[in-house]
Amino acid sequence: MQEERGEEGEEGMKLEILRKDGNELWFLFEGSTPQANALRRTAMSEVPVLAIDEVGVVKNSSVMYDEILAHRLGLIPLKTDLKLHTKKPPVIKASLKKKGPGYVYSGDIKGVEVVYENMPIVYLEEGQEVILELKIRFGIGKEHAKFSPCLITYKRYPKITILKQPTKPEKVAMVCPKEVFSVKDKKLTVKDVEKCDLCKACEETFPDVVKVDGKKDKFLFYMESWGQLEPEEILKEARNILIRKLKEFSSSL
Ligand code: SF4
Repeated sequence: MQEERGEEGEEGMKLEILRKDGNELWFLFEGSTPQANALRRTAMSEVPVLAIDEVGVVKNSSVMYDEILAHRLGLIPLKTDLKLHTKKPPVIKASLKKKGPGYVYSGDIKGVEVVYENMPIVYLEEGQEVILELKIRFGIGKEHAKFSPCLITYKRYPKITILKQPTKPEKVAMVCPKEVFSVKDKKLTVKDVEKCDLCKACEETFPDVVKVDGKKDKFLFYMESWGQLEPEEILKEARNILIRKLKEFSSSL
């Protein structure tokens, strides 16, 4: 057990951003499995974001119950400025007023910036109307999913070893559903190791040719922000929260 811990890396953590595409971020993390998991959980459930938390229903003549309307409103991602998250964070007031016929969209909310303006909330028929007063506050995902800023997953960094060159390399390459291999000059080569999802189909089909393992101290992370914060902001804030918690823990010993 101790040996395994040593293998997983007792030295400092390292992080390297690989690429970003809109709200999506891919990065490399070097450290132990508990460290990787702590980062994942902190990003998902400890980084504060804004969400609608109270809905005052002045009028709702739509077909939707007040509670369902409030639930939908709570899940609308709101642009969040972390500078506002002080020791006494503010409660922001906003409103939503609309008459039918037509859809009520997230962009109809006044007083706060929504991430996506075209999220339909409810359809109003002729003569129907909603008048709502909204209270918005900071919260964390641990408290309610509406305060979660992102989806974040990781996998062990794949280590693919070609044990010997096969007589028919195309057959090995074809087994891989992720197109990790390519054949160059009739030789099997690893084209894109990061695409490997460690399914081991290649190893199970050609055990003499390929060996696949996941590194125990290197991880490929994928994060998708729901838009309240930039993915890099979530990562930095998660790191700050982790450091603060570790300091609090060590000073309490
Ligand atoms: S483990 Fe699966 S994804 Fe990875 S190289 Fe082998 S077949 Fe492809």
